[in-house]
Amino acid sequence: MSPAIAMSGVTKVYGGKIALDHVDWQVQAGSIHGLIGANGAGKTTLLRLALGTLWPDRGRIEVLGQQLGIENAALRQKVHYVATGRPLPVHFRVGEWLHYMERLYKRWDAERAKRLLGAMEMDVKALIRSLSSGQQASLQLAGAIAARPELLLLDEPTNGMDLVVKRQVLQLMMDMAAAEGTTMVLATHNIEDVERLADSLSILYRGRFVLDGSVDSLKTHMHRLQVVTGSRWSDTLFDNPQIAHVENRGQVALVTVEGPAEPLMAHFRAAGALLVEPIDIDLAEIFRLVLEKEGYSREAVAWDA
Ligand code: ATP
Repeated sequence: MSPAIAMSGVTKVYGGKIALDHVDWQVQAGSIHGLIGANGAGKTTLLRLALGTLWPDRGRIEVLGQQLGIENAALRQKVHYVATGRPLPVHFRVGEWLHYMERLYKRWDAERAKRLLGAMEMDVKALIRSLSSGQQASLQLAGAIAARPELLLLDEPTNGMDLVVKRQVLQLMMDMAAAEGTTMVLATHNIEDVERLADSLSILYRGRFVLDGSVDSLKTHMHRLQVVTGSRWSDTLFDNPQIAHVENRGQVALVTVEGPAEPLMAHFRAAGALLVEPIDIDLAEIFRLVLEKEGYSREAVAWDA
């Protein structure tokens, strides 16, 4: 199966400032892909290039097996972009906007739109400008889901939503991906959303990918250990290239390890640690470490062999 998005050597420069720097990126068809990066890392630029509303200065972009060119009308039906703050026609009523969308998208599922609005307790007669920003964000997502795209590009889609609506919306997105094999790219600062939804992810840092692969392989690549040193604490105990980070809490150390954990566990035990046990590592911790590492090395961290 060909990837839903394939970029190679893509560079985008805004007025002399490099926003994306020779980026290679693939998103597998049918996957939910998390795109994480700090402010200004280049996430929106990347999504807009995939949508075809921005043009790269260099490189090649294929979306759903088709090379992006000047004429992308067929792709417009298959690719949908939702971004926080993207204006909706505020003078429309909810029902009027849905009707407009129905005429725009050939694969529109009116029954699904109705169900989604019901779940969000949204009145079709309400003027869009009377909706809160969270409700407007939910409406945009409902429109995207009812349009049944093959590729859904989401740029901070849950901004402004309360926790209950957000959970509901994320669940709807997962249901849609499972039922229809929709590929989704979720650009966000919210690592918890990625942890809950995504099966692969990439981390952008200043216009370059510093990490790219499946969530499972990432979590088997990095481990966290709790080491109870007692009074035997010594800095040389943690002097090992596999150790990415040590957090010293008195007689206990939390150690983040790259690669297999067993050899280091054996090393700590042999050095007299009173207790060595693996503890859960979350994506937020991995993200923090990767960026910290990026501070002294710009080499991409690849954990997928
Ligand atoms: P955020 O998380 O803050 O939305 P982002 O990761 O989406 O950021 P982009 O919006 O893609 O980042 O911006 C990448 C870089 O390109 C930033 O340095 C930004 O200032 C710059 N940039 C983006 N759009 C333009 C533009 N139209 N003109 C000039 N510079 C731009």
